[in-house]
Amino acid sequence: MRFSKFFIHTLKEAPKDATLKSHEYLVRGGFIEQIGSGIYNFLPLGKRVLDKIKTIIKNNMDKAGANEVSLGFVTPASLWQNSGRYERYGKELLRFKDRKENDFVLGPTHEEVITELVKSKIKSYKQLPIHLYQINLKFRDEIRPRFGLMRGREFLMKDGYSFHSSQEDLKREFDLMEQTYSNIFSELGLDFRAVWADSGAIGGSGSKEFMVLANSGEDTICVCDKCSYAANLEAAKRAVKLPNAEAPQADFAKFKTPNITSIELLSEFFKIDSYWTLKAVAKKAIFDGGKTQIAFFFIRGCDTLNLTKALNCCEGANELVDLSKEELESLGLYAGFIGPYGLRNLSNSPYIYFDEELKDAKGLICGANEPDYHFVGVDLGTFSNLEFKDLIEVQEGDLCQECAKSGKEGKLYFTKGIEAGHIFQLGTKYSKALGATFLDELGKAQPFIMGCYGIGVSRLVATIIEQHHDEKGMIWSKNTAPFSIDLIVSNLKDATQMEFATKIYEKLLSLGIECIFDDRDERYGAKMADFELIGFPYALVVGKSLNEGFVELVARKDLQKEKLDISDFETLIQTICARIA
Ligand code: ATP
Ligand code: MG
Repeated sequence: MRFSKFFIHTLKEAPKDATLKSHEYLVRGGFIEQIGSGIYNFLPLGKRVLDKIKTIIKNNMDKAGANEVSLGFVTPASLWQNSGRYERYGKELLRFKDRKENDFVLGPTHEEVITELVKSKIKSYKQLPIHLYQINLKFRDEIRPRFGLMRGREFLMKDGYSFHSSQEDLKREFDLMEQTYSNIFSELGLDFRAVWADSGAIGGSGSKEFMVLANSGEDTICVCDKCSYAANLEAAKRAVKLPNAEAPQADFAKFKTPNITSIELLSEFFKIDSYWTLKAVAKKAIFDGGKTQIAFFFIRGCDTLNLTKALNCCEGANELVDLSKEELESLGLYAGFIGPYGLRNLSNSPYIYFDEELKDAKGLICGANEPDYHFVGVDLGTFSNLEFKDLIEVQEGDLCQECAKSGKEGKLYFTKGIEAGHIFQLGTKYSKALGATFLDELGKAQPFIMGCYGIGVSRLVATIIEQHHDEKGMIWSKNTAPFSIDLIVSNLKDATQMEFATKIYEKLLSLGIECIFDDRDERYGAKMADFELIGFPYALVVGKSLNEGFVELVARKDLQKEKLDISDFETLIQTICARIA
């Protein structure tokens, strides 16, 4: 491709709202152009990168046995009404009517469409498993579209859906997809981690997110410093936390604790580590239609409640909100003095949960459900039917559960990541809702067991740059670069330079090498600045040194220059090919 014929317009100025380098460079480099909030045009350079990424994804998905389809972007609302998501999905779902007043949505994801498609074609377990995927547009009316391609409203996703007759087979496909995604992200040259994620909200069990490590990432992930364990905060687990000191010795008794309303005051009052206190967190769970229910979560005083884990305990609840002092007092409860004794009678709540690390906990101090009183010497073993769940938020420095299993001492720490992909064992949520069944070996109708697997394809364009850039611009790897080499003629008016460069250009093209020939009538400095901004992996400069018998190969990565001898043309071409391979 000749630069002079290529639709490319680089800019000096960064967009005003650009806080990420990927956003700035992709706009300045002429890869993308915004046409509305969260909506972008892909210009030729951007389109070429997008196609490279799509091809890597497609090749790997095809190799894993998945079938590519292309599903309608405009989706009849009835499909979404049948699954119940038309109401539930919220404002991210763009709804509209056609001229006949029929309701439609722009697909933000395609579980409904794919389930209907498979339902109409697959009748028997013998036709399973099947995995269908597409690389297509999605629309989510994000409340705050930002960071360029990172969080758009219209964006490109690879979404795949698999259908199985057994949980084991779903698990097999899930593992295959984990491997496939790892191959894809490795081919894209990304440093990533597959992290355990929360799957509560969408239902199903077992979900992993592919997080690309980058300081600009919006997600905090918890990783082990010794093993490959990685998880989102909502899913992170730790090895059971052990006390620093012996349990305080006290027989069960009620103690007057005037105005001791916080864990800090309580541990000070009794001169004990907050590990031995029982923290009660009372919340109001809110359900569809505004119905509410009080929920209580008990954790050690030294711990913090993770709200997503807590919400997942209250099946069907959409949100947990704080309770006012008055609301608590109307139940006969007092902030700072809530405890498990008699709580069921007072509140009538079906949602009373204890953190699983509190199983068999003894020597605790907890609220007495009476103002200014606490109990000491509490043994949770004396209660019957307590429900234990994982409730706590892991802290940096906690010990890794995986390492602990093999007697090692890995420590957990936090790092930032960008969610580039998500794989999910969905189960029967959509097949049940949409009545999608197959006949099993006994001829009985069973709902399909499903998995779904997404990759943010357009987000990846930005993600790659977040990991690979410097202060001058982008740095593409050979697998994702829009062109492999930028052939720069430093002086167009010099006939020898132009002739030699054209000869190289034609030769490289004939060898199938993606070469862009900067034949613009521009200063050498401007051409180099564009090379650095756009980030082609290499530039070959045909300039003054041609008279001295060499051309210069510049690697974008470190801007190192190498002189290449031109005395033998074939050798020169071979050297160029070897370097850029
Ligand atoms: P996020 O938590 O970032 O909002 P999500 O969990 O809602 O993402 P999924 O439904 O899992 O997203 O979609 C699959 C993939 O699509 C994500 O892993 C992400 O890479 C990409 N993606 C999601 N929302 C956007 C968006 N608004 N713009 C660009 N890519 C997106
Ligand atoms: Mg996700």
